Amino acid sequence: MSDPRTRPRQLPERVSDDFEAACAILDQALVAHVGFCDGDQPYVLPMASARVGHDLILHGAVAGRLLTRLAEGVEVCVGVTLLDGLVLSRAAFGHSMNYRSVMLFGRAVEVTDPGTKAQLAHALVEHIVPGRMADTRPPDDRELAATRLLRLPIETFSVKQRSGPPQDAAKDMASTTWCGEIPLHQVAGDPVPDPAMPGDPAVPAYAKRYRR
Ligand SMILES: Cc1cc2nc3c(=O)[nH]c(=O)nc-3n(C[C@H](O)[C@H](O)[C@H](O)COP(=O)(O)OP(=O)(O)OC[C@H]3O[C@@H](n4cnc5c(N)ncnc54)[C@H](O)[C@@H]3O)c2cc1C
Repeated sequence: MSDPRTRPRQLPERVSDDFEAACAILDQALVAHVGFCDGDQPYVLPMASARVGHDLILHGAVAGRLLTRLAEGVEVCVGVTLLDGLVLSRAAFGHSMNYRSVMLFGRAVEVTDPGTKAQLAHALVEHIVPGRMADTRPPDDRELAATRLLRLPIETFSVKQRSGPPQDAAKDMASTTWCGEIPLHQVAGDPVPDPAMPGDPAVPAYAKRYRR
């Protein structure tokens, strides 16, 4: 917590700089919200992300306007959130959410070596759908050249989490209104086959039993 940007001003008991805790969140998440400024204009870009070692991996089209800014090394702030539940308390004021969240600061570095790009593209697909790369054609040279791959070091970050029941004021504890948590889960539906797919191949296990 030596960086002033990650020092909590309220509820410090919910905030940590635990790398393993950050990894557990980043490894479950599919989407990162990447915030940065282009001139005076702030943008927040939702992007697929994957953690590889001590880096968060991002990718996009070389032609992408905002991704080009990231590749130039502008300062970014990335937010990754897993929503675990809605907390219903006795008083409107105490309603809350249970969540696990990471905020990460730094500058992305573009990866240009084709071999490393191929490895990171593989890792990104495997992060999103584990097992998929064994079944799918890997990117060719032209596709890799058209893809920008960025790594953002996981160095300056904070983890914030909330779990458990509502925390109501003593004056409300005698209230008989229902209170507690509504857990929220991300649930995959049944896979829908592409109608253009020739033949009738079996749905792979990683699609049939997709879980997050
Ligand atoms: C869940 C999710 C995952 C994504 N993953 C990736 C990824 O891994 N890599 C990637 O490159 N892109 C991803 N995208 C798309 C990404 O958010 C951008 O749209 C894309 O990168 C194009 O950026 P650009 O700078 O070229 O957009 P431009 O077309 O130059 O943006 C121009 C304007 O279009 C609007 N716009 C752009 N993107 C969005 C958006 N997502 N939502 C609403 N308005 C928008 C904004 O007003 C923006 O100022 C993802 C989007 C979602 C929702």
